[in-house]
Amino acid sequence: MKISGIGVFIAWLITMVLGYVGLGTYFYEMFEGMDPSMLSVGPVVVFAVFALASMVVTVIWARNLGSDRPAAEVPSGRRRFLVGGAALTGGVIGVGAATAGRMSGWFRTTLPMMGETSEADSTSDSPHPSWKGSRIVSRKPLGSTGFMVSDISIGTGRLMGHSDPEALFREALDRGVNYIDTSPDYAGAKSETAIGNVLKDRNREELFVVTKWCTSDGHVRHGSDPETYLAALDDSLSRLQTDYVDLIHVHACDSVERLLDPNMMKAFDMAKEQGKVRFLGVSTHTPNLEEVAGAAIDSGKFDVMMLAYHHGTWPKQQDIIDRAAENGMGIVAMKTLKGAKHRGMMEFQNEETSYTQAAFKWVNSNPAVSCLVISFFETAHLDEYLYASGKSLTEADVAVLDKYDELIAGTHCFASCGDCLGSCPESVPINDVLRHRMYFEGYGDEKEAMRLYARLDKQADRCVSCSAPCTGACPQDIDIKGRMLGAHERLTLVA
Ligand code: SF4
Ligand code: SF4
Repeated sequence: MKISGIGVFIAWLITMVLGYVGLGTYFYEMFEGMDPSMLSVGPVVVFAVFALASMVVTVIWARNLGSDRPAAEVPSGRRRFLVGGAALTGGVIGVGAATAGRMSGWFRTTLPMMGETSEADSTSDSPHPSWKGSRIVSRKPLGSTGFMVSDISIGTGRLMGHSDPEALFREALDRGVNYIDTSPDYAGAKSETAIGNVLKDRNREELFVVTKWCTSDGHVRHGSDPETYLAALDDSLSRLQTDYVDLIHVHACDSVERLLDPNMMKAFDMAKEQGKVRFLGVSTHTPNLEEVAGAAIDSGKFDVMMLAYHHGTWPKQQDIIDRAAENGMGIVAMKTLKGAKHRGMMEFQNEETSYTQAAFKWVNSNPAVSCLVISFFETAHLDEYLYASGKSLTEADVAVLDKYDELIAGTHCFASCGDCLGSCPESVPINDVLRHRMYFEGYGDEKEAMRLYARLDKQADRCVSCSAPCTGACPQDIDIKGRMLGAHERLTLVA
């Protein structure tokens, strides 16, 4: 069979495109948290077939190189082997780059935001006596749902980290928390089960229970038939021991396609008609946040939006919040502790406020925000967090937040940023390196930070002999080279 170099090139080009749309999309959705059993393997199989075919045609092409020339001009077997090997390597690298390109947004933005999910929100070392027995004292309307929700509400993603999660949850309800955020994929659905064991003895109408379109293994994939969505909801209802949930979110939504999946909409309408759910919501913190949030608002289908929101927020996000609120959507804030680097904040604590309380008051001072959701996983969270309920932001709070910002000034690399990446000729993932340094220093999670750093393709050792063209590339005035060298020193295992 006669195969030309152009033919080989076209074969690899097609494989790269399939790597992007097939394999890349498969990995993207897997990392994004989709239930693995629902991922579409068809495009991956097509990709695999083309990848194999490209390899075969490359080998045939290399073997036949020069076969149409006089015998004296035919390249040696070694030369054909080397040319074929180079073509194969180039093709594989191209396919790998195309696949990684599909996931770049996830690596750049979603992964860091997921990191912030596990905020190191340990409680104060020295809780003030006045915090003891704190209760919810303020409720705000959740958009046009008509429900008044506790301004500080419980996220249950880490509930199972408590030695007696049901007791902690029961106590939170007793103290007035009435908005409960859960999901089947929190602790393999154990969180929903624990909540259900408490809910069954409560006046259900006084509580606003929120879950997600998920199974215990991840999100229900867009395009799944309505029955699959409904089965996931039924499983949640069974674990929660209730006939209905008040709200169901499209969880960690990263694309308009998933947001507006007609099958999800159909399932929602059916469930609503059957009295199994009352409202539809979306939670999002992805590279496409602006697009997804905009589409959710414009669609008019969503009652609630859950967004990362903290002091010193991204200005465009404020516009999104305002527009959503104007359209009657309830806004629920999450990740309110701005990276949670408040371990070093205890020195600023006084009897009036703690960093967490100041941060919560700042979030709740926005009239467009209905409530904030924060993970409760220590008993002491009840006293410290709920003390901020109904309290206005004071000058002392602003001073604490300013001090926090001073503490992180020139060091806090924003999770959704990447403005400096183009300035590094070595393509070192500056934001990832600095984020791992933050885990090490701010979260006290040294082992995990070093593990993550070790997994980076390129590390900050490249900065040592670099002339630092990244200087001045950070709008936050981070001394990139200096911070990178410090990161490498801290995060590298020395034998
Ligand atoms: S100092 Fe480091 S981050 Fe800056 S340009 Fe050089 S290699 Fe890139
Ligand atoms: S160093 Fe600055 S520009 Fe670069 S990702 Fe971090 S915050 Fe953004």
